[in-house]
Amino acid sequence: MPEQPLSLPLVFDEPRGRRKPPRHLADLSAEERRALVVEAGLPGFRARQLSTHYFSRLVDDPAAMTDLPAAQREQLVSALLPHLMTPLRTLEADRGTTRKTLWRLFDGALVESVLMRYPGRVTMCVSSQAGCGMACPFCATGQGGLQRNMSSAEIVEQVLAGARSLSRGEVPGGPGRVSNVVFMGMGEPMANYKAVIGAVRRLTEPAPDGLGMSARGITVSTVGLVPRMRQLAEEGIPVTLALSLHAPDDELRNELVPVNTRWSVHEAVEAAWNYARTTKRRVSIEYAMMRDINDQAWRADLLADVLTSYGDWGWVHVNLIPLNPTPGSRWTASRREDEREFVRRLEARGVPTTVRDTRGSEIDGACGQLAALDT
Ligand code: SAH
Repeated sequence: MPEQPLSLPLVFDEPRGRRKPPRHLADLSAEERRALVVEAGLPGFRARQLSTHYFSRLVDDPAAMTDLPAAQREQLVSALLPHLMTPLRTLEADRGTTRKTLWRLFDGALVESVLMRYPGRVTMCVSSQAGCGMACPFCATGQGGLQRNMSSAEIVEQVLAGARSLSRGEVPGGPGRVSNVVFMGMGEPMANYKAVIGAVRRLTEPAPDGLGMSARGITVSTVGLVPRMRQLAEEGIPVTLALSLHAPDDELRNELVPVNTRWSVHEAVEAAWNYARTTKRRVSIEYAMMRDINDQAWRADLLADVLTSYGDWGWVHVNLIPLNPTPGSRWTASRREDEREFVRRLEARGVPTTVRDTRGSEIDGACGQLAALDT
């Protein structure tokens, strides 16, 4: 009797969770898209048509792509516009102008994104990894470890989803556009460098190759992976860099941001300064204010010493984030008066300082609260 052909479904070919996300046009440059379409035996200009639907018209329903012949449409959509993620839940705050979405990715991994509409701008806070391997003890995402890197298209799709709901008028304030993207959702963007750069390129390339956003409206936030910060400085894309410092001294930072044992305060700040010097973009120092942990007046002075040691040519500003306590956390937000004194001391030394608002904290959508534990 002939042997039965083995017909296990593809999903068993690799361990669960190890398959790559399906390839999507937002993973590819315009030339790569075209090459792929030609390889499939279709006219190359179809790639541009598809890109126009995705990036310019914000269409995600293939049935609406009526300029594509029906027979080719299916082939094109399955090759370049696969379904990447499913919204499981959307929570709203601030009368609908803050919206957090929980997404399920193709392999079941969960990530979150947050849309924040302010007068005159809309910021999308996006995830770059499912989970995070940096293990900062005060951050909700840091507690669960890293599941996997996200693809460029999975990152871009979070922005596009926001863009679509804005264009459909679903966010109070009338139809609008995404003006800013911050890589401050789940994950460490510099630990998923290639995909993050790919996503930034797609977001900034002029339509229809990309979304046509200004690189200046994009902020990449990092724990301080120094070699990647140096690489980013040479990339020639003028995004804003944010360094999550949280302490001006190695002793405390080793505890709050464990990667500090690899790259010290001095090395991380120097890499931030190098970024500012190379790109002429002012960098942002993130500092989550934790009561009686890192908010003492002497630490404000020490932070000013560290930052001004690179000169006072306006290369840096400090963004204080009131800590959003995560469940079971032993840290809590600073007292108002300590926060005020911290700001006063930095400004007295000529370091511009702002205190971040805590939009979305009641829907666990604020900085460091994105955990995606709820299935
Ligand atoms: N991995 C990147 C992006 C993380 S989220 C980074 O660390 O920069 C963006 C910012 O939120 C970081 O500065 C992070 O330290 C901060 N953050 C994390 N948990 C927080 C919390 N519970 N309260 C306030 N800020 C927090």
